[in-house]
Amino acid sequence: MLNDILRATQKNQENAILFLQMLIQTPSPSGEERKAARITAKEMKASGFDEVAVDRLNDVMGTIKGVGGGRSILFNGHLDHVPPGKMDEPYSAKLMNGSAFGVEGEVVYGRAASDNKGALAAMVMAGKIIKDLGIQLKGDFKVAAVSLEEVGGAGTQATIEESGFTADLVVIGEATENRVALGHRGGVGVDIVVKGMSCHASAPERGINALYKAAEIISRIRSGLIPRLPDHPIYGRTSISITQISVKPDTSNVVPEECSFHIDCRNSPDYSIIALVEDLEELIASMKEADPELDADVVTPKRRGTMRGFNGFYTDPEEYSIVQEVKEAVSEALGQETETKLWTFRTDGNYYAWKGTPVVGFGPAEERFSHTNLDHVRVKEYLESIKVYAWLACKICGVKG
Ligand SMILES: [Zn+2]
Repeated sequence: MLNDILRATQKNQENAILFLQMLIQTPSPSGEERKAARITAKEMKASGFDEVAVDRLNDVMGTIKGVGGGRSILFNGHLDHVPPGKMDEPYSAKLMNGSAFGVEGEVVYGRAASDNKGALAAMVMAGKIIKDLGIQLKGDFKVAAVSLEEVGGAGTQATIEESGFTADLVVIGEATENRVALGHRGGVGVDIVVKGMSCHASAPERGINALYKAAEIISRIRSGLIPRLPDHPIYGRTSISITQISVKPDTSNVVPEECSFHIDCRNSPDYSIIALVEDLEELIASMKEADPELDADVVTPKRRGTMRGFNGFYTDPEEYSIVQEVKEAVSEALGQETETKLWTFRTDGNYYAWKGTPVVGFGPAEERFSHTNLDHVRVKEYLESIKVYAWLACKICGVKG
């Protein structure tokens, strides 16, 4: 049967590339997924999916019903993408030689090629191949093409909470270069708000410049806190980046009375948001001893769930034997041993993992090209991922006859 899948992928190659190009040619920044959702739903129906539903957020949920008696599998890919920025012809979806990006073979270029339309198109094409070959899966084959991933994951959450669209195994399509990912660090963000006293910029001695105070805190975070962030045996190193800064009033000739900056922290379970806040408060307290004028507070986000100790996940092979089955199926489809890895960035996988569902990652494209002006997916990797998704579904869901 694997050979049938390989042949069918080959035969469907042109069609698969066209579908991917059509998706890329349809801009779908977060919140504007409607048109791309329509195209995806239409392709699912044309490919023979038994049920295709679109919810209020333009999440598309397609199902190929199993005949019964098998485990279900759900592939999750996102429709939305980050803005194209200064990309050249971001929605051209042109086929070009990968040498322009230092990679081998042909690539499809364009915004979202690597994140996440390559994987999403492959998921739908895998369903088509299963249908074309008349394979009768025992468990359900599901594809969730979700919205709003790049802005927090409301799409995936709606498919789970409002439509109950889940399965026995979830595969997230974020870029893994066709290796198996088992999780990622958590991500938390806090702000530091520094208060000063404004005055005319021509007489700075009359005020307290909040920006100068903030700069001192930033420099202490870099020299004192960042070097001692913990290393975790599974998740790796906790990181901190200071990403945004703003002043009030935002006026060129006034010494600012307030300055806020944002701290992005990617963490492991042993460095929760609580530990981060404690460290920052301690750092500010120690600075206050030397500078009684310093007035700074750590502000945590009010969003639901953000005070959860840890929002990453790890699907431990020791706990979930299905991980071994996934590795075997992927290795068989690719014809070579596959490795496991962790993503550097976050995904929507945690929303399923928190429910106790095993989640693995597998997607064409390289992490390092996501969100960059060099956004592309290699054709070879894209086609391989179609084979892998189809074969993985056969192995996990089981096949009748
Ligand atoms: Zn993504």
